[in-house]
Amino acid sequence: MRHLLAIQGLPPSAVTALLDLAESYVLLNRTGKTPRDRLRGRTLINLFFEDSTRTRTSFELAGKRLGADVITMTVATSSVNKGETLLDTAATLNAMNCDLLVVRHAVSGAPALLAQKVDAAVVNAGDGTHEHPTQALLDALTLRRRRGTLDNLVVAICGDVLHSRVARSNIHLLTALGARVRVVGPPTLIPPAVERLGVAVFHDMAAGLDGADVVMMLRLQQERMARGLVPSAREYFRFYGLDAAKLARARPGALVMHPGPMNRGVEIASEIADHPTQSVIREQVEMGVAVRMAVLDMLARAGGDA
Ligand code: ASP
Repeated sequence: MRHLLAIQGLPPSAVTALLDLAESYVLLNRTGKTPRDRLRGRTLINLFFEDSTRTRTSFELAGKRLGADVITMTVATSSVNKGETLLDTAATLNAMNCDLLVVRHAVSGAPALLAQKVDAAVVNAGDGTHEHPTQALLDALTLRRRRGTLDNLVVAICGDVLHSRVARSNIHLLTALGARVRVVGPPTLIPPAVERLGVAVFHDMAAGLDGADVVMMLRLQQERMARGLVPSAREYFRFYGLDAAKLARARPGALVMHPGPMNRGVEIASEIADHPTQSVIREQVEMGVAVRMAVLDMLARAGGDA
């Protein structure tokens, strides 16, 4: 594995190896004894052309906990002239001898383009509506730790599936690991022909959540909607927001996930987001650091002598 650009096409054995390595980093993170010499002498650049809280800080922490020199560059989207600027950026990064490059960009495929032009190993930290591979890996790690296996687990991915790179990466990863995936949302927010990815489609929350082991809520991505695809946030919550009544349709004790940032009262009620036993949203954030450490470690090994 030279880069991590997408979950699609990643062999299940590579996924399992990454999850196993991440598992060991969960324990090391909890004891504070991470191997700070693992990436010593390596340079990690975080290049974020889009907003981020969790992903950016967790890649920073991951790099630091493994001893890398970490630099974060946040680039205002408005100043970006896609193709040309990206290629100029690539040339600059090559001149800096960067070993690991973490990229988030509003355009699908931007990290893959950079990967062709830089010497560094590239990690896709979210590209447009395409993929967000480390999010899917951290979700899988959270589920594996909670449920032991993903095999036959019924996972309902709900809400704005159309604009969600998290949903796309999760569909690829969860189905590859044997989960039964449903997508649930209004017809305007479900990608056409998504069934071809091996998922079942529901437009009604009660039916989509019926007997689900896991309910994964997605943020309503208003910034990616050119025109109103939902009548109003209030109405959206009424039909598609996760509250206690809708969650009651799922299996008793079903796990609730959300990649963040959450819009409380739009796609999820606060009482569910903060549910003491069913919500694993904070745990997802913790797993995010461990998964990113595993990815950086694995890519550095693949690049040689780390
Ligand atoms: N943080 C996730 C992403 O960057 C989900 C979201 O923004 O809603 O894709």
